[in-house]
Amino acid sequence: MSTSTKPQTVAVHAGSRLTGSKSQPVVPHIQMSAVSFFENSDELDEALDGKDYVYSRIAAPNAALLEEAVAALEGTEACVAYSSGMAALRAVFDAQRLRPGDTLVMPADGYGVTRLLFKNLAERAGARIEALVLSEPSAPERLRALRPRLVLAESITNPLLRVPDLEALSRACREVGALLAVDATFPSPHGQRPCALGADYSIQSTTKWLNGHSDALGGTVSGSREKLAPLRSARLLNGDVLGPFEAWLTLRGVRTLPVRMKVHAENAAHVARRLSDCKLLSRVHYPGLPDHPDHAVARRVLHGGFGGMVAFDIQGAGRPECFRFLEAVKLARAAPSLGDVGTLVMHAASASARRMTPEERQAAGIGESLIRVSVGLEDPDDIADDLIAAVSEAVKR
Ligand code: PLP
Repeated sequence: MSTSTKPQTVAVHAGSRLTGSKSQPVVPHIQMSAVSFFENSDELDEALDGKDYVYSRIAAPNAALLEEAVAALEGTEACVAYSSGMAALRAVFDAQRLRPGDTLVMPADGYGVTRLLFKNLAERAGARIEALVLSEPSAPERLRALRPRLVLAESITNPLLRVPDLEALSRACREVGALLAVDATFPSPHGQRPCALGADYSIQSTTKWLNGHSDALGGTVSGSREKLAPLRSARLLNGDVLGPFEAWLTLRGVRTLPVRMKVHAENAAHVARRLSDCKLLSRVHYPGLPDHPDHAVARRVLHGGFGGMVAFDIQGAGRPECFRFLEAVKLARAAPSLGDVGTLVMHAASASARRMTPEERQAAGIGESLIRVSVGLEDPDDIADDLIAAVSEAVKR
């Protein structure tokens, strides 16, 4: 088996072998059986202790192979897979057992569904919730003052693409004994390994870049074996596992993650430059552009390019113009997700930020004119031509 730690090799080979057989399929079998039988009772007894596969809520081969591959890409000891990215986020929250008087910090400008979930869970626990723009240079100082138990950050925020300085945040967290969990869905492990920058947990919605083909929901939490032990035990009880077919599809996507991400990032950089020249746009958001507010931080905390996400504001547009834009694209598709091989576009205020109140959106700087683009693998000039033509169509009187 290859011992290389180079991401391109790891992505192709990690998580490809189940122990116990000399014959190894090149692609793992999809093991659909939810339960296995043993002819020897001692072996069954040991399997029920987790030493072998016996019941797929306890452990399952396809999910285990995916966990091995994602841990290898994240550079962590372990990984636990879930049925969706939201389930992975919830697992991290639950493991902290927040109590009245505890503080939870989360991004003010992050994914709206996560914000609502954490708000609901914190309310139920009686914990205080503080929403901060974690890319602001004052954020580490605010964390020191707030002394939270748990801090959730997004590596590249959804949808404004701000990039917090994870090294500075993790130093501040360590000083006050807070745990740092990072939703690294936007860069994927190809673009950032949060645990190498000091985070305790790295979370992925594998539905996005890891799967890469929009055909399976899933989520992972990666970190040290010790930090993940309570999550694994909780999953055994609550049953929030990733099914075998979803795990298999996601692992197939993982095999090409580095090569896809390289082209997604190159295409996104090209599209961002082309959009920057378009007079009909008031702002283009891309961490790779020198005028992006976090460009210097992004150069330090992201690797392998600046990711495949671009956002832009259409000059003077409201919701009707943005909806016209979504209907005018010919190559891109209007779909509320990201990480697909094809370009996807979305109106942020009515989709990813839909569950935020208008006040929360305004405070986060998510305006009605904001369009988010998940840049695909098509020819980058075709993508830029399509977006610019659709903007022209949308603002035409
Ligand atoms: N985190 C981020 C940054 C997301 O954009 C999303 C979904 O869009 C999620 C988490 C949730 O993932 P899932 O849809 O797999 O539950």
